[in-house]
Amino acid sequence: MNAYHSEDLTQSLIPRLRAEEIEQMKEFYLFSRHYHDELREWSLHELSDHPIIRRVMMEMSEEEIEESRRYSNELEEKAICEQNWRPYIQFLIDQGVKYAEMGFSFSSWYDLIKALRDFNFLKLDEHYSRNPGKAITARRGMELFIDVCMRTIGEAYLVEKKYIIEQQQQQQEKTNREHEEFVYIASHDLQQPLTTLTGLISLLEEECDKDQLSEEAWSYIDWIKQSTARMTDLIDDLLEYSRVGRKKYREKVDLNQIIKLSLDDMKTAIDLNQAEISVDPLPKLTAHPVEMKLLFQNLIGNAIKYRKKNVPPKISIYARESNNGWKFTVEDNGIGIDEKYKDKIFVIFKRLHTSEEYEGTGIGLAHCKKIVEVYKGKIWVESRQGEGSKFHFSLPEAIIHADTPEPVQEVAGTKKSQLQSSV
Ligand code: ADP
Repeated sequence: MNAYHSEDLTQSLIPRLRAEEIEQMKEFYLFSRHYHDELREWSLHELSDHPIIRRVMMEMSEEEIEESRRYSNELEEKAICEQNWRPYIQFLIDQGVKYAEMGFSFSSWYDLIKALRDFNFLKLDEHYSRNPGKAITARRGMELFIDVCMRTIGEAYLVEKKYIIEQQQQQQEKTNREHEEFVYIASHDLQQPLTTLTGLISLLEEECDKDQLSEEAWSYIDWIKQSTARMTDLIDDLLEYSRVGRKKYREKVDLNQIIKLSLDDMKTAIDLNQAEISVDPLPKLTAHPVEMKLLFQNLIGNAIKYRKKNVPPKISIYARESNNGWKFTVEDNGIGIDEKYKDKIFVIFKRLHTSEEYEGTGIGLAHCKKIVEVYKGKIWVESRQGEGSKFHFSLPEAIIHADTPEPVQEVAGTKKSQLQSSV
């Protein structure tokens, strides 16, 4: 892992060193070699409390430290004699990566190297007290050494960090895939015994005369029927949920059309609840049309369902463009959500109400979250109990097309909606 990254870094660093810089570094190294034992003694003694020194001493055996020092000296020697700094810098980078892997932060390295620099400057001034010209060159070499150290350690650290993040992302994706696979198989396999159960209950109902069973027994059958129906709903929802993101196919989708279709499907609920829905012109994007429909349908459905008693639902659907891309909103005047539940409601099967108060399985918003995340977006709610809700979401990976309508300015008295569905 190290060799692969450090090779890249060395490639980019070596050409940046100019001939005079190499000369300066050489001067400094000649000087530091002269003081090698003294510097070593001092750093171990003076900096024995420094976290890096302490950890390195703890994690590396005396022999390992000695071996790495010997190797470093050998490379340094070669670098000075043969004017080939490449292997030496490569060594520094590898050390940087190794210590970064041990968990040292960039700033603690910086502190250590600054402390070493101050000590070196003192020694250097003493050593060259009769030759200030050489002292200046060696000082510059020392600065350069720090610069190279910092750049190499810092860059190696950043590269390693990026690599670790990539690894974590890959692991996360693998876990998600396995999780989805499990949900799919589990819900699929649960369907079979449930169908048998539902069939047997129907048979029992058909084959038993009214007076063959007690009233209590009939009410048990009723309960079993209600529970199996609810379980069927839950399993169907779960299956639907596990399918999101499986279809990689995407096409150009006109959201205005999608909303129109969704509202047509929800016509009965809209009529029954006297919902007034206004829709601003929405952009065209590249996405899976069924996923987009499900997303809006869940949010609009909730906006109708969680209405205030005796207040007809008023729902606005709009999209705003900002520096961070498009933000879509479904706003309602319903019962609102307590601040403390604003994250929990997106968790699968999390409900704030019983089925008697409001029907549902608690999967709608988890579904929305999953769809939005397929497009690398986010979904969140802005709401207060009793004051309506605004569900916002972004879809960064759903490419917005150029023939998208002019965005509406976010000011009071917005442009009148193109599509008005009010009953
Ligand atoms: P369900 O509606 O089946 O319970 P959801 O996942 O769609 O499942 O919603 C989870 C919970 O979030 C709901 O039980 C409800 O309490 C709350 N909720 C969702 N949408 C709204 C809304 N527009 N206004 C108020 N509460 C809402």
